Amino acid sequence: MASVYLSLGTNLGNREANLNEAVAMIEKRIGSLSSVSAFYQTAPWGFESENDFLNLVLACETKLSPESLLQETQFIEIELGRTKKSNGSYSDRMIDIDILYYEQLIVETPRLIIPHPLLHLREFVLAPLNEIAPLFLHPIFQKTTEQMLSELKNSSK
Ligand code: ADP
Ligand code: MG
Repeated sequence: MASVYLSLGTNLGNREANLNEAVAMIEKRIGSLSSVSAFYQTAPWGFESENDFLNLVLACETKLSPESLLQETQFIEIELGRTKKSNGSYSDRMIDIDILYYEQLIVETPRLIIPHPLLHLREFVLAPLNEIAPLFLHPIFQKTTEQMLSELKNSSK
Protein backbone atom coordinates (compact mmCIF):
# COMPACT_ATOMS: atom_id res chain seq x y z
CA MET A 1 0.00 0.00 0.00
CA ALA A 2 1.17 3.52 -0.80
CA SER A 3 0.06 6.79 0.79
CA VAL A 4 -0.80 9.34 -1.86
CA TYR A 5 -1.97 12.95 -1.73
CA LEU A 6 -4.38 14.28 -4.34
CA SER A 7 -5.59 17.82 -5.04
CA LEU A 8 -9.12 18.32 -6.42
CA GLY A 9 -10.57 21.47 -7.95
CA THR A 10 -13.77 22.49 -9.71
CA ASN A 11 -15.28 25.76 -10.90
CA LEU A 12 -18.30 24.64 -12.91
CA GLY A 13 -21.79 23.42 -12.12
CA ASN A 14 -22.64 22.30 -8.60
CA ARG A 15 -19.12 22.49 -7.20
CA GLU A 16 -19.89 20.86 -3.82
CA ALA A 17 -21.58 17.96 -5.63
CA ASN A 18 -18.65 17.63 -8.06
CA LEU A 19 -16.17 17.37 -5.19
CA ASN A 20 -18.34 14.93 -3.22
CA GLU A 21 -18.82 12.74 -6.29
CA ALA A 22 -15.10 12.76 -7.12
CA VAL A 23 -14.19 11.85 -3.53
CA ALA A 24 -16.68 8.96 -3.63
CA MET A 25 -15.20 7.68 -6.91
CA ILE A 26 -11.65 7.98 -5.54
CA GLU A 27 -12.65 5.87 -2.54
CA LYS A 28 -14.21 3.27 -4.84
CA ARG A 29 -11.52 3.10 -7.56
CA ILE A 30 -8.26 4.22 -5.92
CA GLY A 31 -8.28 3.34 -2.24
CA SER A 32 -9.49 4.12 1.25
CA LEU A 33 -9.34 7.72 2.43
CA SER A 34 -7.14 8.55 5.40
CA SER A 35 -7.98 12.27 5.52
CA VAL A 36 -9.92 14.86 3.56
CA SER A 37 -9.51 18.63 4.01
CA ALA A 38 -12.33 21.16 4.16
CA PHE A 39 -13.48 22.85 0.94
CA TYR A 40 -11.47 25.99 0.09
CA GLN A 41 -12.90 28.68 -2.19
CA THR A 42 -10.27 30.38 -4.36
CA ALA A 43 -10.07 32.77 -7.30
CA PRO A 44 -8.94 31.22 -10.62
CA TRP A 45 -5.14 30.89 -11.00
CA GLY A 46 -3.43 31.38 -14.37
CA PHE A 47 -6.50 32.46 -16.33
CA GLU A 48 -9.49 34.82 -16.21
CA SER A 49 -12.85 33.41 -15.26
CA GLU A 50 -15.93 34.59 -13.44
CA ASN A 51 -16.21 31.25 -11.69
CA ASP A 52 -14.33 30.78 -8.41
CA PHE A 53 -12.83 27.39 -7.68
CA LEU A 54 -13.65 25.05 -4.86
CA ASN A 55 -10.59 23.00 -3.86
CA LEU A 56 -9.69 20.26 -1.44
CA VAL A 57 -6.78 17.95 -0.73
CA LEU A 58 -7.07 14.35 0.41
CA ALA A 59 -4.81 11.49 1.45
CA CYS A 60 -5.56 7.90 0.53
CA GLU A 61 -4.02 4.44 0.68
CA THR A 62 -3.71 2.74 -2.70
CA LYS A 63 -2.39 -0.45 -4.28
CA LEU A 64 -2.05 1.31 -7.65
CA SER A 65 1.29 2.19 -9.23
CA PRO A 66 1.85 5.90 -10.03
CA GLU A 67 0.98 5.30 -13.72
CA SER A 68 -2.22 3.39 -12.89
CA LEU A 69 -3.12 6.07 -10.36
CA LEU A 70 -2.88 8.72 -13.11
CA GLN A 71 -5.06 6.56 -15.37
CA GLU A 72 -7.71 6.32 -12.67
CA THR A 73 -7.68 10.04 -11.83
CA GLN A 74 -8.04 10.81 -15.54
CA PHE A 75 -10.88 8.30 -15.87
CA ILE A 76 -12.69 10.02 -12.98
CA GLU A 77 -12.14 13.47 -14.56
CA ILE A 78 -13.72 12.21 -17.79
CA GLU A 79 -16.57 10.43 -15.98
CA LEU A 80 -17.44 13.67 -14.22
CA GLY A 81 -17.77 15.44 -17.56
CA ARG A 82 -14.60 17.41 -17.77
CA THR A 83 -14.30 19.18 -21.13
CA LYS A 84 -11.04 18.83 -23.03
CA LYS A 85 -8.85 21.90 -23.28
CA SER A 86 -8.97 23.10 -26.88
CA ASN A 87 -5.96 25.43 -26.88
CA GLY A 88 -3.67 23.92 -24.30
CA SER A 89 -4.29 26.73 -21.80
CA TYR A 90 -6.06 26.70 -18.46
CA SER A 91 -9.81 26.55 -18.64
CA ASP A 92 -12.97 26.07 -16.62
CA ARG A 93 -13.55 22.46 -15.67
CA MET A 94 -15.95 20.22 -13.80
CA ILE A 95 -13.13 18.51 -11.94
CA ASP A 96 -9.34 18.53 -12.04
CA ILE A 97 -7.46 15.92 -10.05
CA ASP A 98 -3.71 16.35 -9.57
CA ILE A 99 -1.33 13.91 -7.93
CA LEU A 100 0.70 15.86 -5.36
CA TYR A 101 2.75 13.14 -3.67
CA TYR A 102 3.19 9.36 -3.94
CA GLU A 103 4.95 8.40 -0.71
CA GLN A 104 8.41 10.03 -0.99
CA LEU A 105 8.75 8.94 -4.61
CA ILE A 106 10.16 11.20 -7.32
CA VAL A 107 8.73 10.49 -10.80
CA GLU A 108 9.63 12.33 -14.00
CA THR A 109 8.14 10.92 -17.18
CA PRO A 110 6.56 12.79 -20.13
CA ARG A 111 3.09 11.99 -18.74
CA LEU A 112 3.66 12.23 -15.02
CA ILE A 113 5.68 14.40 -12.68
CA ILE A 114 5.61 13.73 -8.92
CA PRO A 115 5.80 15.74 -6.68
CA HIS A 116 3.44 17.95 -8.67
CA PRO A 117 5.77 20.66 -10.08
CA LEU A 118 3.55 23.62 -9.10
CA LEU A 119 2.35 22.55 -5.67
CA HIS A 120 4.73 24.84 -3.76
CA LEU A 121 3.48 27.87 -5.76
CA ARG A 122 -0.24 27.32 -5.20
CA GLU A 123 -1.92 28.50 -2.04
CA PHE A 124 -5.07 26.60 -3.06
CA VAL A 125 -3.01 23.41 -2.75
CA LEU A 126 -0.80 24.30 0.22
CA ALA A 127 -3.59 25.67 2.43
CA PRO A 128 -5.74 22.50 2.37
CA LEU A 129 -2.61 20.30 2.44
CA ASN A 130 -1.47 22.17 5.54
CA GLU A 131 -4.73 21.21 7.24
CA ILE A 132 -4.17 17.45 6.78
CA ALA A 133 -0.36 17.11 6.42
CA PRO A 134 1.48 20.15 7.87
CA LEU A 135 4.68 18.19 8.53
CA PHE A 136 4.83 16.08 5.34
CA LEU A 137 8.26 16.58 3.77
CA HIS A 138 8.55 17.52 0.09
CA PRO A 139 11.02 14.87 -1.20
CA ILE A 140 12.92 17.31 -3.45
CA PHE A 141 12.85 20.57 -1.51
CA GLN A 142 13.05 18.81 1.87
CA LYS A 143 10.55 21.33 3.26
CA THR A 144 7.32 20.76 5.17
CA THR A 145 3.95 21.98 3.94
CA GLU A 146 3.99 24.51 6.77
CA GLN A 147 7.34 25.93 5.60
CA MET A 148 6.32 26.12 1.92
CA LEU A 149 3.01 27.81 2.80
CA SER A 150 4.62 30.46 4.96
CA GLU A 151 7.32 31.10 2.33
CA LEU A 152 4.65 31.50 -0.36
CA LYS A 153 2.65 33.93 1.80
CA ASN A 154 5.79 35.97 2.57
CA SER A 155 6.83 36.11 -1.09
CA SER A 156 3.44 37.47 -2.20
CA LYS A 157 3.42 40.31 0.37
P1 ADP B 1 -3.53 21.16 -15.08
O1 ADP B 1 -3.78 20.18 -13.98
O2 ADP B 1 -2.13 21.67 -15.11
O3 ADP B 1 -4.54 22.26 -15.12
P2 ADP B 1 -4.32 18.96 -16.79
O4 ADP B 1 -5.12 18.45 -15.63
O5 ADP B 1 -5.02 19.04 -18.11
O6 ADP B 1 -3.70 20.39 -16.48
O7 ADP B 1 -3.04 18.05 -16.89
C1 ADP B 1 -2.27 18.00 -18.03
C2 ADP B 1 -1.35 16.77 -17.99
O8 ADP B 1 -0.51 16.83 -16.87
C3 ADP B 1 -2.04 15.44 -17.86
O9 ADP B 1 -2.36 14.92 -19.11
C4 ADP B 1 -0.98 14.56 -17.14
O10 ADP B 1 -0.40 13.60 -18.01
C5 ADP B 1 0.08 15.56 -16.74
N1 ADP B 1 0.63 15.42 -15.38
C6 ADP B 1 1.94 15.45 -15.08
N2 ADP B 1 2.15 15.31 -13.78
C7 ADP B 1 0.92 15.21 -13.19
C8 ADP B 1 0.50 15.04 -11.85
N3 ADP B 1 1.39 14.97 -10.82
N4 ADP B 1 -0.83 14.96 -11.60
C9 ADP B 1 -1.72 15.05 -12.63
N5 ADP B 1 -1.38 15.20 -13.94
C10 ADP B 1 -0.06 15.28 -14.23
MG1 MG C 1 -4.64 18.31 -13.67
